[in-house]
Amino acid sequence: MLTTEIPYKTYLGEDELPKAWYNVRPVMKNKPAPLLNPATHQPATLDELSRVFCTELAKQELNETDEYIPIPQEVRDFYKMYRPSPLVRAYFLEKALGTPAHIYYKFEGNNTSGSHKLNSAIAQAYYAKKQGLKSVTTETGAGQWGTALSMACAFFGLDCHVYMVKCSYDQKPHRREVMRTYGASVTPSPSDTTAVGRKILAENPGTAGSLGCAISEAVETALNTPDCRYVLGSVLSQVLVHQTIIGLETKAALEKNGVTPDVIIGCAGGGSNLGGLITPFVGDFIQGKNNCRFIAVEPAACPSLTRGRYAYDYCDTGMVCPLAKMYTLGCTYMPAAIHAGGLRYHGMSSILSQLYDDKILEATSVKQTQVFEAARLFARTEGTLPAPESSHAIYAAIQEALRCKETGKAENIVFGLTGTGYFDMMSYQKFNDGIMTDYVPTDEEILKSLSRLPNV
Ligand SMILES: *Cc1c(COP(=O)(O)O)cnc(C)c1O
Repeated sequence: MLTTEIPYKTYLGEDELPKAWYNVRPVMKNKPAPLLNPATHQPATLDELSRVFCTELAKQELNETDEYIPIPQEVRDFYKMYRPSPLVRAYFLEKALGTPAHIYYKFEGNNTSGSHKLNSAIAQAYYAKKQGLKSVTTETGAGQWGTALSMACAFFGLDCHVYMVKCSYDQKPHRREVMRTYGASVTPSPSDTTAVGRKILAENPGTAGSLGCAISEAVETALNTPDCRYVLGSVLSQVLVHQTIIGLETKAALEKNGVTPDVIIGCAGGGSNLGGLITPFVGDFIQGKNNCRFIAVEPAACPSLTRGRYAYDYCDTGMVCPLAKMYTLGCTYMPAAIHAGGLRYHGMSSILSQLYDDKILEATSVKQTQVFEAARLFARTEGTLPAPESSHAIYAAIQEALRCKETGKAENIVFGLTGTGYFDMMSYQKFNDGIMTDYVPTDEEILKSLSRLPNV
């Protein structure tokens, strides 16, 4: 029998949905370095950023003064369709591990897009609509971001054009159909609809495509279409701010139960879910109000924090977005085709990069077979089939719980379960068939792409 002291699931009421996002930059002693204009290498101004992003989002990108940014009522109304999301006490996993630790996870996979990305998609679509734009373009690799954006655009009546990396387009027809059902047009990339796509096709007929190429096509289309902007689903500070809805709800649910976290863990691709989960607690940490540890978990195949360099780099392989100072493997780094597609990003949020450099954030890397072993244990004990990305956090939470088993301390461990694994059955099949392999890049490979960092 479960103890009734703390409920298995803590749900907040609709009226407890946060009214403002959290922005940790005002309390950071060392601020993240400014974004730079890719042409001039000077700090990007609001005017310059507004050509790429919606004006309100550009303001959020530059905002280092407001700790709280009000969530527009229309966005809160949409959030009500799937939020507040539950905070679960992983009683069954604890029992299986025989740990004295108390493990909690915040589940973000209970919406149709299947991940936390919807939290920012809806905000970005809202500001685009409010500014009078007609459409947005984006790229999608694994498909989560494209799906989230399609849902958000359907809600606000914006056209949405998604360039989907060709091999995903062919391998994940279900993702594609979800996007089309929400009204998005989905083009396999490279395509003959853009100059850059035609060039790549001419040079490499039959190519499976890449994220870099899909970004370049999405940007070209945005620049050539009136009242259109290109949008990004991670890395940027505005995205991290939108994702703080996760951390704020987690904080409220923990407080409701009188629980103080000792360690908070999240997987890190571009850093948006991790930053969203931890920064409300990091703000308190910096002000001496808690003594929590924060851990980023990245794939061994794409280890930006643990093996990258803290330097200015392009956010996109297409080299059109502003330059950000971040832990990076170099924007030309080509990560192996691991099964956690959402974590195959060369860089890291500039806010998290600064927190890591300041030793407030810790980082670790994990191989994918270890990740799937953790995913299997989690599915069999807690019931939910986790996304491969989220399973990186599960792996690290299990390690922390096993450490507590040795020390005998009943620490409170919290991790972010960012998504469901329903769209990742090909990956689970490889794992179940015992043919999944691990990939760890050599130092030479990393040095090669780092040697091509922009000279700033
Ligand atoms: C995209 C994605 C991630 C990684 O993105 P972040 O910006 O680092 O949060 C993690 N989990 C899931 C399920 C995703 O779709």
